[in-house]
Formats: sequence, structure tokens, C-alpha cells
Amino acid sequence: MEMSHRGKAFSSILAQAQSDLRELLAIPDNYKVMFLQGGGTSQFSALPLNLTKAGDTVDYIVTGSWSKKAAQEAQAYGLKVNVAAKGDMASVPDRASWKLSDNATYACYCDNETIQGVEFKAPPEVGDTLLVADMSSNFCSKPVDVSKYGVIFAGAQKNIGPAGVVVVIAREDLLGKSRQETPTVMDYQTMQDSLHNTPPCWSIYMCGLIFSHMLKGGGIEAYARKNRGKAQVLYSAIENSDGFYHSPVARANRSNMNAPFTIPRSQDLEKEFIAAATKQGLTELKGHRSVGGMRASIYNSMPDEGVEALVAFMKDFANKHA
Ligand code: PMP
Repeated sequence: MEMSHRGKAFSSILAQAQSDLRELLAIPDNYKVMFLQGGGTSQFSALPLNLTKAGDTVDYIVTGSWSKKAAQEAQAYGLKVNVAAKGDMASVPDRASWKLSDNATYACYCDNETIQGVEFKAPPEVGDTLLVADMSSNFCSKPVDVSKYGVIFAGAQKNIGPAGVVVVIAREDLLGKSRQETPTVMDYQTMQDSLHNTPPCWSIYMCGLIFSHMLKGGGIEAYARKNRGKAQVLYSAIENSDGFYHSPVARANRSNMNAPFTIPRSQDLEKEFIAAATKQGLTELKGHRSVGGMRASIYNSMPDEGVEALVAFMKDFANKHA
């Protein structure tokens, strides 16, 4: 924590973290990898500031709370914010219904809606428009074709490291186009080496440990396989509960990271479920306050045994209340 960010020790930590992440996600050479501060939310403003001029049109595909917030934040920058698609917050709206602009500077979406549990299984088709993605809650959970994107950003705290750090992967030709009023710490051009001011050294060190651990553990494909397996076990338990549990999310868009579910019979039973689960050490299962119900977040570090324990508890609880 006391290391100088320009000293040899930290320079090699930063370089290693960057190169391991590049290897992990096969990030092409024409993309910068930055470790910035301000969390995922900082990028809701960094995008318009770095990529647009006042008066530009930008498209947002809204599939849940985080893409909605991103679209709202963009309103502050004198843009024509076109919500090109807004569904029921429980699915990705049918592609044919989207109303993308002809002249959008970028199209922004959230690859995994943490609260609603809605995940894109492939990048959205937006034609020639620059594609920008918030991958905060499924970053490093599966392979990603970075070349399809202008900018990818991800708050670190789900799969890769401590909160506060945000990874920004930005195509090089997009740097140097920021608005004059862009805060220095948000300017991709100034921040491209993550060293303009003191970076969150310890947090970057932690992210680096995770990247290296992931590479040693079989790389991104191995994690993706494991994540698909865990999600399959959990969603099957919901499906096979004779309606005791319910997943509100359309099958094709169910997240491999965040699985919201309800007990349709009564909210009191949901409360009882959460309390009884907590007693057994199955914690953090309360749904986000904005949607209620339950939510199992099964990020990379959740072992198979954790999901199996939850599923066993769910079956037991359902049997007791049948
Ligand atoms: N986007 C998504 C998808 C998120 O899940 C979160 C945080 N949970 C954010 C953005 C905001 O990130 P932060 O809290 O780091 O600002």
C-alpha cells in the first residue's frame, strides 16, 4: 500500500495485471486496458464526455436498472438520448422491436443486469454504430470478442477485485476525442497508462492476483464452463420445483451470474426462506430492495458446492412447505 506508483515494484505489478488480462480475454493490441477509479458508475459520465459532442445522438438499450441509470446519466450532457429498446426488465426485447438511430455516436447496453438477472448471450447487433458495454457484473465470467466493441467497462467488485477500481478497455482511435470540460481523471487519453495520478495500487495488485489465478485455473473457457454448470443446476432446481419457486426472467436471457427467484405463494414465505437460509450460512440471498424476492449471485468464486448447498436447502424448504 505504501509503494510508489512510479517505482519498479508497482510498475511490474501493473504491467503484469494488464498483460494477464489481455491474455485472459484475448484483447487485441489496438485496445488500451486501463484501471481507473470511481467504480462502474464513473463510466456512465465518462462515456459521453470522452466519446460525444453536445447535440450528438446516443442509443441506449435498457434491459434493467443499470442500463436505465446509464441512460439517465447521459441526459446531463446535452445529448439526444434515444432509448432504442426498453423491455419488461425481465428479458432482452426482441431485436426486431429496437429503434436504433441512424446517426448514433454509440449504442450502449449492459451485458448483465445485476439486479434483474438479464444477460445478453451474444453482443447486440447494432450495425456500424460504435458498441459500448457495461460488463460490471459478468466481466471475466465468459469469453468476449473485444473487437466488436468500442469501449467495455467493468467495476471490479464482482469477479476480479476490490470495489472502486473500474477496468476500461477502449479502442485506441477513440482516445483524444474528449470534451474540453472532461475531468482529467476521466479522460481516456490522459489516463491511458493508469498512471496520471496515484492509481488504486493495492486494488490493482489484487485484480492481478485474480487474473493470474484464472490463467492458471484453465483460462476464461474453464470459468465459463463452470459458470454455465452452476447456473444450470440452480435454474433446474427452480424449474423442477413444481412452481414453488419462480424465475421471472425469460429463459433465453437468464444470467449465469445473478439468479433472481421468487416464491409466488407468499412474500412471507420468502422472508422465512431468507431467514432460514441465513441461519444455515447461506447468506446474501435477499433480492435487491427495488425488486424484492431472492437473488443468488453466483460469481466466479462461488464453488459448485455453494450452489449445491443452496439447491439442497431450496428442495428441503419447498418440501417442508408443500
Ligand atoms: N453496472 C452494473 C451492471 C453493476 O452491477 C454495478 C454495481 N453493482 C454498477 C454498474 C455500478 O458500479 P459501482 O457501484 O462500482 O459504481
